[in-house]
Amino acid sequence: MNTDPELKAWSKAVDERIRAIRDELELASGGRARLLPVTKAFGPEAVQAVREAGLTEVGESYAQELVVKHREVDDSEMSWHMIGRLQRNKVRPLAGLVSLWQSVDRPELADEIARWAPGARVLIQVNVLGRPEQGGCRPGEVERLVVRGHEAGLEVAGLMGIGAEGDRDGTERSFATIARLADQLGLAERSMGMTDDRKSALAHGSTLVRVGRALFGDRSSSRRG
Ligand SMILES: *Cc1c(COP(=O)(O)O)cnc(C)c1O
Repeated sequence: MNTDPELKAWSKAVDERIRAIRDELELASGGRARLLPVTKAFGPEAVQAVREAGLTEVGESYAQELVVKHREVDDSEMSWHMIGRLQRNKVRPLAGLVSLWQSVDRPELADEIARWAPGARVLIQVNVLGRPEQGGCRPGEVERLVVRGHEAGLEVAGLMGIGAEGDRDGTERSFATIARLADQLGLAERSMGMTDDRKSALAHGSTLVRVGRALFGDRSSSRRG
């Protein structure tokens, strides 16, 4: 039990923001979308705050950070999503820790996950606008990757995408395209939307909204930096 008053106040604020955003998602999606708190750059206290708010899933963007925090938190009730760009050599250390691999964007990565985490649940990440700074396959490659995932024995649950910062139209187009592809391929999960573009993502049928800053504050202010 942590008695640091500053930490207590922060945890309480996080709890209130989690409630507010869950209400917002509930209202906007009719209960279809759930909140995935993104705890990257924050320490185990962020995961603890999520847990105290009654949620059991968190998202992390960096493999090493996930491994370390998973160990620090040491809570078998928590589920961890890998949402960041992933190198093949990081799959093995993450196997057994990750409940949903959201950033599968190439055949070799699907194969590597199947090798170390047979039958794992994955999403295919789609880079609709072809932005080089983001991971993700092009829309035309999605179907092939879904098939490849199935052939490798993975459970392909849906698609994931990242909006385009500062480009509203591009973001809308991304989410619309991802939703259409998911419809065509009969995939239920659509991981779309972050702090700044969650409204647009919800309007396009997001089922999983990945929120960091709106819950925990600016990452530059985190205890981890
Ligand atoms: C960091 C990150 C988020 C959360 O972004 P915020 O703007 O802090 O809400 C969501 N998805 C991915 C893939 C991320 O890397």
